[in-house]
Amino acid sequence: MSDVQLVMNAGSSSLKFAAYMAKGDKPVLKGKVSGIRRAPEFSATGAQPDALGELTADTTHDEMVQRVLGWLTAHPEFGDVTAVGHRVVHGGRNFSKPVLVTDYVLAQLTELEPLAPSHQPHNLAAIRAVRGWKADLPQVACFDTGFHASQPKLNRMFGLPRKLTDQGVIRYGFHGLSYEYIARILPRHLGENADGRVVVAHLGNGASMCAMTGRRSVATTMAFSALDGLVMGRRCGSLDPGVLLYLQQGLGMTIGQIETLLYKESGLLGVSGVSNAMQLLQDSPAPEASEAIELFCLRAAQELARMLPCIGGLDALVFTAGIGENSARVRSGICAHLGWLGVSLSSDANAAGEEMISRPESSVQVCVLPTDEESVIVGHMHDIVG
Ligand code: ADP
Repeated sequence: MSDVQLVMNAGSSSLKFAAYMAKGDKPVLKGKVSGIRRAPEFSATGAQPDALGELTADTTHDEMVQRVLGWLTAHPEFGDVTAVGHRVVHGGRNFSKPVLVTDYVLAQLTELEPLAPSHQPHNLAAIRAVRGWKADLPQVACFDTGFHASQPKLNRMFGLPRKLTDQGVIRYGFHGLSYEYIARILPRHLGENADGRVVVAHLGNGASMCAMTGRRSVATTMAFSALDGLVMGRRCGSLDPGVLLYLQQGLGMTIGQIETLLYKESGLLGVSGVSNAMQLLQDSPAPEASEAIELFCLRAAQELARMLPCIGGLDALVFTAGIGENSARVRSGICAHLGWLGVSLSSDANAAGEEMISRPESSVQVCVLPTDEESVIVGHMHDIVG
């Protein structure tokens, strides 16, 4: 039986996994459980949709990981798992590079759970579940915050008292594994501009943007938590902090209620009252759905513009992730706000889903590149465990 390395990406409502035989290879197995805690659906290479047994809204994230591991055990033809790599959302100030998971590392990462309450506990639950499955298996944690460690100090600071900055209340940034992948492949797609002033827009359920020069992160829209920046599927994005005070003091909401409001009931879902999924909003006749899409596009363009002083202009804009890769409407909606920067989109190329979607005369190259966070994780795993 061949040896494989397993990658797990345990998100807030999904669990993605992939098995690789060697660094740089295509995965021999790819699978996903989506809609966890709502209407879970399983799909994987060569598997029946019911292969994990009955999945309901009561099936917890933890149990989902156990079921996937049980399914892998029952299918040795996929290979013998020799190591597992995980996407972990928050590495805090101590972990910017991928690390081998030890008891100490796990304890430190657990302390960061309040900083990413809808992701970090699920990431760590997956690590614990793998320990329960095969205690001696080496596990590697790769951090979404890691890529942004290159941001200059000023770009990471809030206008808060220095004591808080010193305690780590700073802009960390997320989606780093996706940005790392895109940064790696940019030279193949952008030529000289790859090392210039590039903004990458990772637009999925969670959405952020990263401004790079020399293919390193200089600024990003998410900050201390994964709430800041763009309007997202269910998250509000940047908000006047006075609103939080009003929710608590004026409306008497508890901290727990405010947390649920900000992480789960806002964003595209809250604005539209229809769905958090862009695809469904695009198909909806409700005016609130169109308004939610328009707000998403306007806020994205505003967030992009906010980062430009940090990189001094814009040579290229790259769209990636579920919305960025698939929604011509959103790409054109965002670019429509960026004409003043010299962005000129080819509506034919955009509608046809081509890779380069800017017109030849556009002073900013605009392109669409699919991301691949799992391949970044497997690369780091090979570097650490061989
Ligand atoms: P995450 O990994 O953060 O859960 P994804 O990167 O899978 O999210 O992106 C999910 C988003 O992409 C959803 O809003 C979904 O509706 C949207 N999406 C996927 N396919 C399309 C499509 N063909 N057209 C428009 N939006 C799409």
